[in-house]
Amino acid sequence: MAECIFCKMAAGEIKPAIVHETDQVLAFRDINPRAPVHVLVIPKKHIATLNDLDAGDTQLAGELLQTAKIVAEMEGLSQNGYRTVINCNAHGGQEVFHLHIHVLGGRAMKWPPG
Ligand code: C5P
Repeated sequence: MAECIFCKMAAGEIKPAIVHETDQVLAFRDINPRAPVHVLVIPKKHIATLNDLDAGDTQLAGELLQTAKIVAEMEGLSQNGYRTVINCNAHGGQEVFHLHIHVLGGRAMKWPPG
């Protein structure tokens, strides 16, 4: 999508701080971190929200989750733990309409979220 900022990152037109990359997936540091470690994992293909994931995206969805795990390992979060979040639409607090998994760690998280 031409106006999607995460598509521009996936295409290399905007250069985020990349943590990990495969053919289908990109992981980069959030520009406004909410924890000592805050990485976003996105599909390179444009999918607006979790609602828009279809049956043909099952392999890609698995790779997104695997990448979140790999990022947590790379960032030293696995043992103490971390949080993964997918915000969806208005009540979920989604601001960027390109599917992403937040990987947050480096401090204890509170529950429930606000
Ligand atoms: O889940 P949600 O859509 O609210 O999160 C979007 C995230 O994308 C925010 O945490 C924001 O800081 C991040 N962002 C970014 N780089 C941009 C624009 C947004 O890391 N250029």
